[in-house]
Amino acid sequence: MKITFLGVWMASDVGETVSFVIDADDGDRILVDCGTNLVKGLLDAKIDPMSITHIIVTHSHGDHISGLPGYLFYRYFFAPGIYKKENKPFKIIASESCIDSLKAFIGVPYPMLVNAKGMEYEVAKVEETIMIGGINIKFFQSKHTPLTFGIVCRSKEVSFVYSADTAFDENIVSYAKNCDCLIHDVAATDDYAELAGGHTLCQQIAPFLNKYGIKKFIPVHRISVYKTNITPYLNALRADYSGEIIIPYDGMIVEI
Ligand SMILES: [Zn+2]
Repeated sequence: MKITFLGVWMASDVGETVSFVIDADDGDRILVDCGTNLVKGLLDAKIDPMSITHIIVTHSHGDHISGLPGYLFYRYFFAPGIYKKENKPFKIIASESCIDSLKAFIGVPYPMLVNAKGMEYEVAKVEETIMIGGINIKFFQSKHTPLTFGIVCRSKEVSFVYSADTAFDENIVSYAKNCDCLIHDVAATDDYAELAGGHTLCQQIAPFLNKYGIKKFIPVHRISVYKTNITPYLNALRADYSGEIIIPYDGMIVEI
């Protein structure tokens, strides 16, 4: 399963906020969250914005939805081939309250795109599973306000967990116990706990990565301090974890 990170940062001025694309085997493309500069991020990553078939929105914070109205505008008015009949319909999947927020948010600049032709909304619920292109996706509730969904993704061959934005919660690490990879909010080391707000710290999560046998760990949602020097962050994780750590950057592709 191929994952393309469009952004990896906490809301900041150093790079794109956290969002990524999952390529399913049958050609479906799932975008998880809509970072600030979504269309540019997709084009930079050589992903045709029109090829996105599903968008999962984990929660309604600005750094996870801000790129959506501009993306829809591009998709419906600018994209080459937009008027061709073969354009696939696509779905936006989120909690009921998040969908209400998205409709209000899209409606401010582009009321005509709230219910654009071919676009559907699908309500996701905690503990429910959906199937997209051979990938089984189960939603769980993260420790973050407003209501935030993390996901467990399983194809025939591989599986991973994405925590979405969250304070540390051992349960989330445990969901990745038999998975190939855990992608998790890790904003900072405890030196910067204040800047990290209610997000996970390196020292909180590291001991539990070994405990649950996490094979591959991809921390995201870093604060901008680590743009210039990642060493203290890596050292704090390494102190208690011996598995593989991948530090992603904007545009990076990872094979799970
Ligand atoms: Zn958030």
